[in-house]
Amino acid sequence: MTGDFIKIKCPDCANEQIAFRKAATRVTCSVCGSTLVVPKGGVGEIKGEVLEVVG
Ligand SMILES: [Zn+2]
Repeated sequence: MTGDFIKIKCPDCANEQIAFRKAATRVTCSVCGSTLVVPKGGVGEIKGEVLEVVG
């Protein structure tokens, strides 16, 4: 486990999805399109609630 994959709860629609924390591109909610992770050149800025680390 590297801690790079996290389960995020969307702040807008409460959808839960897995995201790569060090994403090179913006990660958006698959349901409503709200931004969940903003790339910061390393560990991204998490916009939603982190529910758990999954990988
Ligand atoms: Zn959403």
